Amino acid sequence: MTLHHDDRIRVLLEHAVSVRGFMPDDEGIALYEAGLEAGTRFPGGAFLEIGAWCGKSSVYLGAAAESTHSVLFSLDHHRGSEENQVGWEHHDEDLVDAHDGRLNTLPHWQRSIGDVDLEMSVVGLVGDSRVVSSLWTTPLSLCFIDGGHGEEPAWNDFNGWTPHIAPRGLLAIHDVFENPDDGGRPPYEIYCAALESGKFAEIGATGSLRVLERRAA
Ligand code: MG
Repeated sequence: MTLHHDDRIRVLLEHAVSVRGFMPDDEGIALYEAGLEAGTRFPGGAFLEIGAWCGKSSVYLGAAAESTHSVLFSLDHHRGSEENQVGWEHHDEDLVDAHDGRLNTLPHWQRSIGDVDLEMSVVGLVGDSRVVSSLWTTPLSLCFIDGGHGEEPAWNDFNGWTPHIAPRGLLAIHDVFENPDDGGRPPYEIYCAALESGKFAEIGATGSLRVLERRAA
């Protein structure tokens, strides 16, 4: 039995809400809607997200990918960012792998995707963002940057991935805080750089999520 489309979307979005992660529900819905917009502009196209953690945003974007016959490539080394390590604010003890004492979010990510049968629409890429971006050639209908929020990873993601966004494709950035009291600077700085480059225009803002579109060439 296959679910009616609206029921399927409801199942996926409810699942996304239940997955552990750092994205408020309204921002998740806005991300899903950005995915729908990108998938409508480029049916059958490729989305890419950097920073998957346990798969919350992957399910939001995966729902949009499935609806538009797109594929989401979900990239993460699954070892956690600096802010997730022991002693930091966003550390989660039960994500530590007893095998080597390191964080490992990959099994959790796999369950998040597998529990709602999204494997045909969401493909995991496990590795370093720079290594993957340096050999990537497929134009992206949507790129979502939510990886390491330190200066070096954020700029590497911006420089490595934004050139792959197709004209009229979308760039979404998470944790963009205009006010330094609300959060770290690098996501805000790469957002400013995208606008200042003249190549992108803002089309949406929800909480700390910003959605930009690449201007037509
Ligand atoms: Mg985030």
